[in-house]
Amino acid sequence: GFNCGIVGLPNVGKSTLFNALTKANISAENFPFCTIEPNTGVVPMPDPRLDALADIVKPERIIPTSMEFVDIAGLVAGASQGEGLGNKFLGNIRSTDAIAHVVRCFIDDNVIHVANRVSPLDDIDVINTELALADLDAVEKALLRVVKQAKGGDKEAIALKAVLEKIKPALDEGLPLRGVELSVEELATIKSYGFLTLKPTMYIANVNEDGFDNNPMLDQVRELAAKENAVVVPICNKLEAEIAELDEDDKVAFLADLGMNEPGLNRVIRAGYGLLSLQTYFTAGVKEVRAWTIPLKCTAPRAAAAIHTDFEKGFIRAEVVGYDDFITYRGESGAKEAGKWRLEGKDYLVKDGDVMHFRFNV
Ligand code: GDP
Repeated sequence: GFNCGIVGLPNVGKSTLFNALTKANISAENFPFCTIEPNTGVVPMPDPRLDALADIVKPERIIPTSMEFVDIAGLVAGASQGEGLGNKFLGNIRSTDAIAHVVRCFIDDNVIHVANRVSPLDDIDVINTELALADLDAVEKALLRVVKQAKGGDKEAIALKAVLEKIKPALDEGLPLRGVELSVEELATIKSYGFLTLKPTMYIANVNEDGFDNNPMLDQVRELAAKENAVVVPICNKLEAEIAELDEDDKVAFLADLGMNEPGLNRVIRAGYGLLSLQTYFTAGVKEVRAWTIPLKCTAPRAAAAIHTDFEKGFIRAEVVGYDDFITYRGESGAKEAGKWRLEGKDYLVKDGDVMHFRFNV
């Protein structure tokens, strides 16, 4: 699976968000999901297409795809120097695919701020500086090694040295590598280092209920994010936590009252999915209608591997109906009659929403 680490200064609303995310869907009986560890929650991906497919197929169960969120509390200034448990937290971030950086954009005199001021840009700077320092440390260590090899004429070492030297100045200034323009080749050269500030990042701007519009703090976060290719998701975590506590009927009524058609949390989950360049395909049978997560530009055999590696190894063909056709023609047989059912081979690039059935050898 794919996961997203939740980071941020203390008292900005991380736990509130994490609890809302993990609680929001517990009511659904069929989810094989649960909280794995106290700080890890697997959250189903809200996707209305699943219900539309189920309406036609009438399956025994519906299984959404999911995204894992990890609450990485405790990142404070000095973490990169190994202060306190700093290094452990940096290690936890290293093992995530993406970062959700929660930033306090709400004023509330009852909630103490660690630095006695509410300033999203300063807060972001504290965290990003720690992450940049950790990356800088890794770059400096790598350079020590690679400079020697490069002198010996090792081509790979020469290429690596060039990229490391290109990215170092940004880190020297405490800036994230996300903001440095790097080619596909350059990115591939340094991929194995797993630099923290290169991870796809979204800033979760935690606003008050009335803080979505005319909120200068939110505007500041947006401006900063634009400079470093990050995404911003404004959300009121406190409200989301309240919504998550409600049962399904109350939830619908409560959201309608607020003029919302779904919990704001859904935007966080989708943004996480978007950060990782993922897409969804479906399998739709009477046993289950199910969503599967695959990367963008994924071939049919690789998509099949999401279900089982044997499906990829023994791949023969994929039966495919596009999502819209499946809905329009009310299922596979309707789509067949309309000439919208296709047999695709191993080079087929799966499209988001494809309804697929794999033929394979065992
Ligand atoms: P963490 O330390 O980052 O995990 O922060 P918490 O989630 O524990 O939140 C710290 C405090 O801020 C708690 O008392 C929350 O109820 C409060 N809080 C969280 N989100 C909001 C919000 O959107 N508005 C307001 N007014 N308070 C919030």
